[in-house]
Amino acid sequence: MIKTDQIYQVLHQRFGYQDFRDGQLETITALLSGHDTLTILPTGAGKSLLYQLPAYLLPSGVVIVSPLISLMQDQVDRLRQQGERRVIMLTGQLQGRDRREVLNSLDQYRFIFASPEMLTNSQVLQALRRVRPSLLVVDEAHCISQWGPDFRPEYLLLKQLRVQLSGVVTLMLTATATPQVRQDIIKKLGLDFDHVRQVIRSVNRPNIFLAVNRVEDADAKQAELVHLVKTLPGPGIIYFASRKLATQQAIMLAQETGLAVAPYHAGMAALERFNIQQQFMANQLQLICATSAFGMGVDKTDLRYIIHYHLPANLASYMQEIGRAGRDGQQSVAVLLYAPGDEGLQSQLTTIDLPSEALLTQVQQGKLQPAVLGEQKELFAFYLKQGYSPRQILRAFHHRQHQLAFNLQKMLDYVGLDRCRRSYLLNYFGEEAAPGQDACCDLDQPDWERHLPMPASPAPAKGPGLDWQARLRELLNVKSWLDKG
Ligand SMILES: [Zn+2]
Repeated sequence: MIKTDQIYQVLHQRFGYQDFRDGQLETITALLSGHDTLTILPTGAGKSLLYQLPAYLLPSGVVIVSPLISLMQDQVDRLRQQGERRVIMLTGQLQGRDRREVLNSLDQYRFIFASPEMLTNSQVLQALRRVRPSLLVVDEAHCISQWGPDFRPEYLLLKQLRVQLSGVVTLMLTATATPQVRQDIIKKLGLDFDHVRQVIRSVNRPNIFLAVNRVEDADAKQAELVHLVKTLPGPGIIYFASRKLATQQAIMLAQETGLAVAPYHAGMAALERFNIQQQFMANQLQLICATSAFGMGVDKTDLRYIIHYHLPANLASYMQEIGRAGRDGQQSVAVLLYAPGDEGLQSQLTTIDLPSEALLTQVQQGKLQPAVLGEQKELFAFYLKQGYSPRQILRAFHHRQHQLAFNLQKMLDYVGLDRCRRSYLLNYFGEEAAPGQDACCDLDQPDWERHLPMPASPAPAKGPGLDWQARLRELLNVKSWLDKG
């Protein structure tokens, strides 16, 4: 049995902290005493410590499954900065001999990061079984519920992974999850709801003011966007539903406002995205026009505003995205722009054409090629290969579409509220209504734009900027000294 003294000792010596933040010790103690644990802490509350600290007290490695490579890279970099060398990242980029070598020596690592796709690879699974990890961490666990089955179905393989790892102690981490999503996460990992410890802290972020600006049409929305960007102190992020629009608007806003603006989306080259992220961190950029690809792992504490040009798919995504504002605790604002008909785009994005059961059956029996299943053929083929019956597949997708429609309705309800937005959000996440506070939402304080006590923007940074080439070399070198060490 590991004692609390030992836990504090690692905290002081390894991490240099005097004390834990709310929810941390409770989670760590639960894990070290062998309990599967679901922890919900708001963004910026120190979630990575929850598995990093136990890694120094447990007998074997920790496996961390994370949805985004950039997010994993970020964690890997930080661990290495802390002087930890026994850290490895398993992604599709690791190939050939390098991959064989890493897999053969996997038990040498204390931290093993893996993308969900890697879990479909039998060599990776075998290597993980040999490691007998002490802890499995599912980061951004809401993705299990939010993304399946129409996106990244590999996430659903986590249940099998747990079985293969002999029911390893599991930590599920997220910043937002409704009571229903919590149940869903636990169920999809094959765990028993009554036996999972839950450490849940409020999702409320009192320093983020909530507003919805309703406009008449697209032109009015455009004008409102320019007005907000000119008025609100930065730095800020504007979220768009499409890559094209994010790029167009970045160019337009740079011209209209004179600010240093850049677009950011998954269609851009990795190097370019990396540059933009670094320039934003260094205040060389004041505004990012992004798709939802931007944000996870971005640790800029002084973001003053998050604007949504389009409706997000659901309130959980919305909370995640606006939660990036004001991590320094200073006044910040989240504005959602809405024009009548905006929901049309979102419902288009969330509809999938489903093949008939007969067609799926014929593909299953090998009488037809998966190509007949349309645009999503790979997705359906994946489920058939995993042994799901055509009926099960269709039921899952129908259920999913109902859920998406429900989520969209909740989002629209938020837009159309006539009472406190914060209370509505908190209720949605299973919490009591918010205690009264001065700067809360536009429904309590309609003239907020003139009275919100926002801190001033930091001075824009100029000059030679960071040396990207050196930074990249630094990242590439990591691999070579890993091989040596
Ligand atoms: Zn309010």
